[in-house]
Amino acid sequence: MDRRQFLSIAFLSSITSSTLVGAAPFGLHIQKKKNSMERKSNNVTPIAICTWAFSNASKQAGEALERNAAALDAVIIGVAVEEANLKNTTVGKGGTPDREGNVTLDACVMAPNGDCGAVACVENITHVAALARKVMENTPHFMLAGKGAEEFAYANGFKKENLLTETATQQWKEWLKTSEYKPIINIENHDTIGMLAIDAQGDIAGACSTSGLSYKMKGRVGDSPIIGSGLFLDNDVGGAVGTGMGEEILKTVGSFLIVELMRQGYSPQKACEEAVHRVVTKNPDHTNFQVAYIAMNKAGEIGSYCIHSGFAMMKYQDGKNETITSPSFLK
Ligand code: ASP
Repeated sequence: MDRRQFLSIAFLSSITSSTLVGAAPFGLHIQKKKNSMERKSNNVTPIAICTWAFSNASKQAGEALERNAAALDAVIIGVAVEEANLKNTTVGKGGTPDREGNVTLDACVMAPNGDCGAVACVENITHVAALARKVMENTPHFMLAGKGAEEFAYANGFKKENLLTETATQQWKEWLKTSEYKPIINIENHDTIGMLAIDAQGDIAGACSTSGLSYKMKGRVGDSPIIGSGLFLDNDVGGAVGTGMGEEILKTVGSFLIVELMRQGYSPQKACEEAVHRVVTKNPDHTNFQVAYIAMNKAGEIGSYCIHSGFAMMKYQDGKNETITSPSFLK
């Protein structure tokens, strides 16, 4: 059995919501990476960063890295925390539905070797980042959408779950009274979870998972499952993830832009600022929507920037889990 098969089996055998939020999710199943003697020359201690103040997600990912998990395993573990969090109305189970009452999820993952996978508009599956990884590892395709993704999930051992909670149903019914489509800036201060990790070998991986915009049109897919928009990385350079109005992130291919700017020598901070400026310059309506990015380069330096204040990111490194408030274009 090679490492890839081992990890696939290990993940599936442990994927229940209850174990995901437990003290050591997948702890027993993670195959250790090479020992630290083989650490790469960049010599950065493992780091996990993510969008918004998802402190438990960054902690779980960071602690997995400290147990020598590979970066890809760590980001799946971190993102899964929010996918299973019923209080989070913008990711996974408990997410806000589309205007017809269907919770549809989008996710993607990217591995250090440049492989990537995605799922879009998936119903009834909580852990869509793990599912995106399955698409990457077990199919000849990059993305599966809708029913095809759902059937692929069942065939791979994922369980069917009703993602629409009682609270989300009540809020949706309330929304139906006016049916006014107006995405709220910094919805409850948390939206898509995008996560990047550097492991003990210095390798970078990323994952992104969301229920998308609240009360979106049926079938709408945003930036989050699109490599280059919601997430992009190059293991030689660094990575970036986006959150906020997906249509704007897509139009400027934001995460790819940030990584390419870092390749040219921009710091993660300056690269995030440039990507936000690109959105702002192209769209005079930017006062009405939020776009936020976080980025990390190969040296472990990080940055974040957003249009409206109120965005923050998490960083876990060397046992310290910190919330970092992002500077913003509009003060
Ligand atoms: N970017 C996500 C989307 O457009 C939503 C968000 O992050 O708020 O689907």
